[in-house]
Amino acid sequence: MKALTILGSTGSIGVNTLDIIGQHPDRFKIIALTAHHNIELLFKQCIQYKPTYVVVSTEKLADNLQQRLRERSLSTEVLFGAKALADVASLSEIDTVMAAIVGAAGLLPTLSAIKAKKQVLLANKEALVMAGPLFIEEAKRSQITLLPIDSEHNAIFQCLYGSFEPGIPPKEVSKIILTASGGALRNKPLAQLKETTPLEACQHPNWVMGRKISIDSATLMNKGFEVIEAHFLFGLSPDQIEVVLHPQSIIHSLVEYLDGSMLAQLGSPDMRIPISYALAWPERLENAAARLDLLKVAQLDFKPIEAARYPCLDLAMQALKIGGTATTILNAANEIMVQAFLEGKIRFTEIASLNQQVLEKIHSRPVVSVEVILEDDSLARAVALEMVEQAQKSILIAMGFSARRREGEQPECMQNT
Ligand code: NAD
Ligand code: MG
Repeated sequence: MKALTILGSTGSIGVNTLDIIGQHPDRFKIIALTAHHNIELLFKQCIQYKPTYVVVSTEKLADNLQQRLRERSLSTEVLFGAKALADVASLSEIDTVMAAIVGAAGLLPTLSAIKAKKQVLLANKEALVMAGPLFIEEAKRSQITLLPIDSEHNAIFQCLYGSFEPGIPPKEVSKIILTASGGALRNKPLAQLKETTPLEACQHPNWVMGRKISIDSATLMNKGFEVIEAHFLFGLSPDQIEVVLHPQSIIHSLVEYLDGSMLAQLGSPDMRIPISYALAWPERLENAAARLDLLKVAQLDFKPIEAARYPCLDLAMQALKIGGTATTILNAANEIMVQAFLEGKIRFTEIASLNQQVLEKIHSRPVVSVEVILEDDSLARAVALEMVEQAQKSILIAMGFSARRREGEQPECMQNT
């Protein structure tokens, strides 16, 4: 029986992971769950999975949840804060960690799991984007099994016969091809992109995901981050990683071998498939994801990426080529810009232009330690926040001070996870 900690259990990946685990209680045991603020859902998860520990972000939330759990006679211990996250990721009683916190907040607990030699199921791509060299070095040193959850990387992992060594180029592979759906705005006229609302940008055509990755999919920053993720995970050079638009999201990615053979992994766009594969690897698990009906799919399309629609993809490639902390800086700037867009402070098209300005303003440094990463992450956030403030002022001036979002109105995609 595998004993797990799920970092980010109340998010889209966390919920899908628990869905699979709930169907296989003979194979998995939950030791710890974590959430940022959503204690309502975490409370329900505690009742169903009875973890030994849960972690939330603040003491107040922890007290509240602890009291409610005691009233239900549950012995789960409620902890809070960054240290507690790292602690539950390295408990002696677990062997596997699902790293499904979104953004930079996932880096330290994921590193803690690696250092403690846990099997790591990696969904939190931002950890690799911000600290790739360090992350892979730690994974090599600990000789852990790293199993990619991102559907594209999981597809590649499956096409590599389910085995690879982190950061080592797989034998006889000439290149990999990452597929991209194009996100929510793939058919919107270019001239209208700047008028995009958060709700519109969150409505991904094929996948149901958290709001940050949904916005990143609309800008294609997500695909840029996935190129960076693939570069570090599989040890391939940027020119061995191609991106093609594949609107149906049926082929999740491909590997081209030296002899011209191409292997692809197909499936319905449902994260329970890559999650099950990683949970059970090297075996396979049944799950409730829809089976693919090829006759219904009928056609698979592939198109080149439209550079003018997706400047964030090019930005990510630039950051990868600059190297060092450039990807850390871009990741931090992007987290601020996505949040600012969700809060109605900047326009959709400003996500790319402001990210670029932050990237140009801060010099990259070699990734020599976690401290360097965290310093450049903080610096980039500070610069990005200043730029958001300036952009917001000019929007308010241009709009005659009328707020772009009515007071108290929250788009559905702003829900708390
Ligand atoms: P989500 O927003 O739905 O959930 C994020 C989880 O992280 C929640 O449990 C939230 O409580 C927690 N969290 C957020 N901020 C935190 C903080 N500061 N401290 C502690 N916990 C925090 O996100 P998601 O869509 O599940 O994505 C999770 C990760 O998986 C992301 O890195 C994303 O890029 C990656 N991913 C997601 C999908 C998908 O289908 N959703 C696919 C591929 C990769
Ligand atoms: Mg993906």
